[in-house]
Amino acid sequence: LFGQQEMTLLMVGLDNAGKTTVLYKLKLGENMPTVPTIGFNVETLEYKNVRLTLWDVGGQNKIRPLWRHYYHNTQGLIFVVDCAESQERMEEAREELHRVLQDEELRSAAVLVLANKQDLPGAASPAQLTDWLGLHSLRGRTWFVQASCAVTGEGLYEGLDWLSRTIA
Ligand code: GDP
Repeated sequence: LFGQQEMTLLMVGLDNAGKTTVLYKLKLGENMPTVPTIGFNVETLEYKNVRLTLWDVGGQNKIRPLWRHYYHNTQGLIFVVDCAESQERMEEAREELHRVLQDEELRSAAVLVLANKQDLPGAASPAQLTDWLGLHSLRGRTWFVQASCAVTGEGLYEGLDWLSRTIA
């Protein structure tokens, strides 16, 4: 699929960002109805050489310690953002991203930000999102922002292709 090497990826983001849609788009190549990812739900996609685990991060401080089980051996982090959300939610997303990146297990993980919902009017551009997420302040970290529309699948393979080339 994405080159020959195995990739272990973790996908996180606030609720409603589009993570489940991304997962099913990659898994099935068609849109499945999604239910909100709540509680302890974890979804994993294993497709050929790619293992991708999906977690919500918003408002789940109590279960955050459990992520560690899933962080282990993670080479790439996919952070999904709903670009049509309010600036308050963008702020929340920024805090979550930086919090997740503090985890020791993710110290060397490459970061793919999916600037999702680009099809919606008023969606923040990748450049705007880069500013809002404070990506330029990250030290010693390889990151990339990919514009995407998870519903159509636009941008998803480009983003994963960047990850596979970066991790290789
Ligand atoms: P999750 O909570 O991060 O797993 O988000 P979901 O995948 O459940 O998506 C939340 C809602 O946003 C659903 O109604 C999706 O159909 C919708 N959605 C996801 N990606 C896009 C996108 O790129 N564009 C638009 N317009 N809607 C999207």
